[in-house]
Amino acid sequence: MKHARRHAMIDIHGLQKSFGDHMVLKDIHMHINKGAVVALLGPSGSGKSTLLRCINLLTIPDKGSIRVGSHEMHYSGDATRLPGDRALARFRANTGMVFQHFNLFPHMTVLQNVMEGPLTVLRLPKAQARERAQALLAKVGLQDKVDQRPEQLSGGQKQRVAIARALAMQPQVMLFDEVTSALDPELVGEVLGVIRELALDGMTMVLVTHEMAFAREVADQVVFMRDGVVLESGPAKEVIDNPQHSATQQFFARYH
Ligand code: ADP
Ligand code: MG
Repeated sequence: MKHARRHAMIDIHGLQKSFGDHMVLKDIHMHINKGAVVALLGPSGSGKSTLLRCINLLTIPDKGSIRVGSHEMHYSGDATRLPGDRALARFRANTGMVFQHFNLFPHMTVLQNVMEGPLTVLRLPKAQARERAQALLAKVGLQDKVDQRPEQLSGGQKQRVAIARALAMQPQVMLFDEVTSALDPELVGEVLGVIRELALDGMTMVLVTHEMAFAREVADQVVFMRDGVVLESGPAKEVIDNPQHSATQQFFARYH
């Protein structure tokens, strides 16, 4: 186990988060190996988005520890000992997150959207930031859209820009929160295709998705949550094809 932990890219111990008196995450433990793809599944309200946001520190946990790569954060429940802004920024730069709604900068071109983080946060020289952005936009199939504005793109194209923008920070981990849920059905495939390619590249990823066939194909591991706890986890095909817990069985029955 000790050996396995050293190879884990993400380590989560005893994670707790409440909003008011509603405990949304109740003692979560998770180990995700480098290069692994984890599908985080479960009914609405089970805490999936909150867990992703905690991994990215968009939401600050109450208790527990999170390590991503070599960056580690401990929370004691003591509000006077929260991490400072610089520690948070360093930690966050290590994880890229893509949301259901694209959150692109509307007044910037596609290329500027992807260059912005490397320029302002990583302080890359402009030529280098441009080169990196162009390469990533080519990777997601948008090399001919670099000068367009987000409003000129389809939802699938916007989401591919959002992925390129996250990758431009060269994160060790990518987090995807229902990134195809707001798309017209015919645009889902092009976004899943990009995620599938990242998996083949060996990117460590956690994805919340309703695309069960995709999760079964691309994920190594499924983590099934309900009411803030992990009910069941294991190899993706095993959990999806042969769930053990009755709540997990009920959940997957809707997709079979
Ligand atoms: P999921 O992504 O699995 O649907 P969420 O993590 O979004 O679940 O939400 C889990 C629970 O936490 C829900 O009951 C939700 O209403 C609550 N919650 C999430 N964010 C907040 C917040 N900022 N303030 C209060 N309650 C929240
Ligand atoms: Mg959610």
